Amino acid sequence: MPQIIDGKAISAQIKEEVKARVAVYRERGAEITLAVVQVGNDPASSVYVGNKKKACAYVGIRSLSYELPEETTEEELLALIADLNSREDVHGILVQLPLPQQIDEHKVICAIDPSKDVDGFHPQNVGALCTGEEGFVSCTPAGIIQLLKRSGIVIEGRECVVIGRSNIVGKPMALLLLRENGTVTICHSKTKNLKETAKRADILVAAVGKPRMITADYVKEGAVVIDVGIHRNKDNKLCGDVDYESVAPLSAAITPVPGGVGPMTIAMLMYNCVEAFRFREQDR
Ligand code: NAD
Repeated sequence: MPQIIDGKAISAQIKEEVKARVAVYRERGAEITLAVVQVGNDPASSVYVGNKKKACAYVGIRSLSYELPEETTEEELLALIADLNSREDVHGILVQLPLPQQIDEHKVICAIDPSKDVDGFHPQNVGALCTGEEGFVSCTPAGIIQLLKRSGIVIEGRECVVIGRSNIVGKPMALLLLRENGTVTICHSKTKNLKETAKRADILVAAVGKPRMITADYVKEGAVVIDVGIHRNKDNKLCGDVDYESVAPLSAAITPVPGGVGPMTIAMLMYNCVEAFRFREQDR
């Protein structure tokens, strides 16, 4: 039987650690604040934003909510970000993606002060990750590193294959595994021999965005399998990018969906908010 990597328990542990750090700052009179910006009312985004605000309340971080109408212009959003950048009492800024089509997402990400970019999407933070400097790391891949480490899985020296090269998951995931001294291969939609390459992995990360695509044919016996995907099947049940039923029996360890990678993203967002406050204090 594989080790089931328990994202619920590990994310709860991280939230408790964050809560304890926040409490120390609060005793000194500091109020860590996250501004959460949502444009339009996409139902999935509303659920994510609601969960982020709930997590803030749980760990003791103040959240400021900006709910802008669907027809908000790019200029209006950029003006709000400029205001939040300049506010001393705002430590983190989160703009929920995707944005309506009249707004250029890249421009918006670049407008956020990198020292408040708790999502870790700003090119300056991505660059810092590349060069090994301090900065914010995208929450989902940062959470996956925590899942691995806290489950006692060694990364150093092992073959790591990441399927997917998005800016939010695949690329930062590969860089983080490299930082942990893994030997990293990135696969994507144009990769030839995907199955053979994936089968080399000691640690396989599936961030491909295709329900249950990664079957037993892609997985070496004894591999650690991390499933980033979240999908709803036709019965409205959650599933991942990995075909859990066929892959679990041959893996050494695996993340379930739900209860694997999913809960880690918000826990790491909370962690990044406290880090934003710490960086600011360091700079004073
Ligand atoms: P994306 O669509 O931006 O990227 C998917 C990547 O997979 C692309 O780089 C593409 O090249 C690659 N790909 C697509 N088809 C492929 C194929 N047939 N073979 C090989 N590679 C292929 O998606 P994303 O934002 O990186 O997210 C990936 C998955 O993770 C999605 O299911 C998403 O819902 C989920 N996700 C989960 C969390 C979480 O908190 N758990 C966070 C972000 C994303």
